[in-house]
Formats: sequence, C-alpha cells, structure tokens
Amino acid sequence: MSDDRAGRTRAQWLETLARYRRDPDGPGAADYWSPSLDCASRDQLVAIQNAKLAALTPFLYENSAFYRRRFDRLGLAPTDIRTVDDLPRWPPVDKAEMMADVTAAPPFGTYTTHDDTLWATRGWMMFSSSGSTGVPRIFRYSQIDRELWAWANARALHAFGIRPGDSMLICAGYGPHVFAWGVQFAIAKMGVACIPGGGMTGEARAMLVDRFKPTVVTCTPSYALHLGRTMAERGIDPAGSSVRTLLVGGEPAAGIEGTRRRLEALWNARLVEFYGCTEVSPHCGGYSCPASDRGPGPVTAHLMEDVQIWELVDAESKQRVAEGERGLTVCTSLNSESSPQLRFLVGDYSVFTTAKCECGRTHVRAVGAFAGRADELINLRGVKMYPVQLEEAVRAVPGVGDEYEILLATDADGLDVMTARVEHADGSIGERVAREIRTRCEVRCDVEVLKPGTLPKTEFKARRVRDTRRAG
Ligand SMILES: [Zn+2]
Repeated sequence: MSDDRAGRTRAQWLETLARYRRDPDGPGAADYWSPSLDCASRDQLVAIQNAKLAALTPFLYENSAFYRRRFDRLGLAPTDIRTVDDLPRWPPVDKAEMMADVTAAPPFGTYTTHDDTLWATRGWMMFSSSGSTGVPRIFRYSQIDRELWAWANARALHAFGIRPGDSMLICAGYGPHVFAWGVQFAIAKMGVACIPGGGMTGEARAMLVDRFKPTVVTCTPSYALHLGRTMAERGIDPAGSSVRTLLVGGEPAAGIEGTRRRLEALWNARLVEFYGCTEVSPHCGGYSCPASDRGPGPVTAHLMEDVQIWELVDAESKQRVAEGERGLTVCTSLNSESSPQLRFLVGDYSVFTTAKCECGRTHVRAVGAFAGRADELINLRGVKMYPVQLEEAVRAVPGVGDEYEILLATDADGLDVMTARVEHADGSIGERVAREIRTRCEVRCDVEVLKPGTLPKTEFKARRVRDTRRAG
C-alpha cells in the first residue's frame, strides 16, 4: 500500500467527519444536543451519509488489508460505493469473516484501519467483543475516536433526559467492553457526575445507591434486577430510592414488555436503552428517546443516522428489505477513525420506520426496539424461536420469579424436549406458563415449578438457555 495514498485518504476521511460534527462540546438546544443533526430532514441525513461514504471507501481500501482484499475479490473499486444506493453491491461482512481474519492475522486482524504506528502515536484504548460466539474480535481506538464517541453518546444520553445535576452509578466490570466506557466518556463531556461502581459486590453497590443517591443507574438489564432485589433483601426499597432512570445495554430489555415493566416497577424508574455491538462501535447505535415508550404501539428506538447507516436485510438472501418489512440489522459505521466498518451484519431482527417521531428527531426508528441476535435462534424439532420469545412468555405470568432456565435435552426415546424451570410459591402455576409458551412459541414445553430462591442468581449477562441435546 502506498503510504502517501493511505495518509491522504485518512486525512480526507477525518476532514469529512469534522465537517459534519456539530455541537462538539455542549448541547445546541434544551431538547436536542445537536438540533441541526438530530432533527435534520431525511434528505439532509442521506446527503451527510453519502458524503461520509464517499470518503470512507477509499480510506478503507488504502488502510485496511481486509477491506482491500474484499474489494479486489468482488471486482469493485472504492469509487463503486459512494452513496447509500450503492451499498447493496457490497455483501454484508459477518462475524465469521472477521473471526477468520483475526485467526489468520493475530492478534488484531486486518479489518480495522488502526496500525501499530497509530497506536504508538495517538492510540487510546483497546476493546474486545465478548467472545460469546467464537474468537474475540479486537479493536484499537484512537484519541479521535474517544472524542467522536463521547460526542455521539452524549447526544443519545441527552435524549434520555440526562442532564448536569444528575449523578450516575455505573455498575460494570470496566473490562475491555464497549458499553460502560462509552457511557463513562459521554457523561464526562456532559458534566454529569459519576459514581464508579466497578469491582464490588451487589451488597456494596446497594449501599452506594442508599448512601450516595445516584439518579441514574447504568448496567445490564439482568444486573438491574439483581441490584434491585439485593437492595430489597437489605430492607432498602429500590422504588423509594433516588434512582429515576435505568440505563441498560448488553441485553435486550426495552422491547420485552414483561421485562421492561418488571424493571420499571421494581425501581419506580424509567428504563432507557442503548443498542449496538462491539464491531460497529465506538458508538451507541440505537437509543431511546422521550417518545420511545409513550405508546400506544410498541416501544421504538432511534438509530443515529448521520454517524451510521442502518439497513435491514433478509436473513437468507442478505438482500436489503423494504421499509416496514422485518429483517436483520446491518450497520455501516461512519464515525470512527480506527474502526469504520462497511455493512457489518449485526444480526438482530427488527422493523424500521422513517415516520417522524413525536420527540422531533428524524432519524430512523426500530419498531419494538431490538430483541436479540439471530444467531441465538433455538430450533426444537423444526420449530424455531428466540430466547426473547420464551422470556416474554415466562414474564407474562404474574408472580413468577426473576430467574428462570430453559433446558433443551434429548429424552430416552431420542426426542428433543424443552423444559422451563421457573420459581413460584404456587406449584400449580406451571400449567399457565406452559400455555403462554405454547401460545407465543407454538411449541410444547414441560414446566418445573421450583420454590423461590432455588435457581442461581444472575448478575451480569443472563445465560438462560442450556442446550444438552445430542448432536445430530
Ligand atoms: Zn423520538
């Protein structure tokens, strides 16, 4: 690769990003951090996307070996992909392809534009995918990324109604995972106070809430349940606490009615959500707004379109679907010096609408928010369902405990069977749970009702489905 072209395309890319970054250091209006972007017309948004895309493809070609190989293999030149309408020419990149790249070129792979020289001169922080599906993908970010990230996330946090005067308890391990760090740097930009809650037990965090009175708690939805219950066990009522907003990420929550209501009732707080994945960070991706849960329809989440391009594709053909049709999320990340990605298959099912939101923002919305990755699909005797559908069924039954487990096993006759293990004081509730599962998932399921407190407590990410079926 010619260093000159690599440097020149990088400079053009960074110049383009700078041109469309508004209100970098503070909100431009009371209700919107970046009013001219958050409420831009659809035509303006597409024009920004096209300008960024035209600078992105030459930058990727000259600075990422992974992308250069892919362009060459597809017989495409960077100039072939200059607008949103050109994107379907580029087949989505999936996790398997990135994993193969990192396996062939450890430890960083070649799918980012961050090299050792950049890391040595303005490297900022390294992040990693959780590794829940195979080889972890590593991403090194620059100081420029830190600024872009803090800015984009501040715009989303502003939409949640978080303001200076709030204080936020972040319950996270502070490992190389994107969610908590993205929030941390955004609130520093916003002037919102932080109570760092890393490296401590649920009891210790419960005491932090009680003593230091944060108004926002940031964690996974599973942890918000765990922390609320831990407080209650110690005689501290989370609903009577100072917490007014639960900011969750890492697992679906807002789109699962039973889970959202359970958390909001437990804390007497509003649940807001970040949606995204490590591969298309540094950025929040999807986010709630003041009108997200105003009803009467399903909850919605915005996707910040001046910094990312979101599409839905058919699960089989990977072709873009029309607005209003269900498909898998694909993201082109336009907001990173180190890790811009062209059509990464994030892989959650959703339905998009560009209808104007009551909040005034014009950016596309995911109707029903997001409900889990397609690669979590459960196939039981040919009936396909997602863990989120099972969660909806279990949580639809009043009084069922927070913890539950789904076991998939092969019985003595060689038949694959599913058992739900739930907690309830009344053993006869099993029939009702089985009925909810049958109705929502169209599958027969045995239900075991256990005494409350029997199942192990979930802390961070819940792993509720256990599959012990015999292969083949
Ligand atoms: Zn809105």
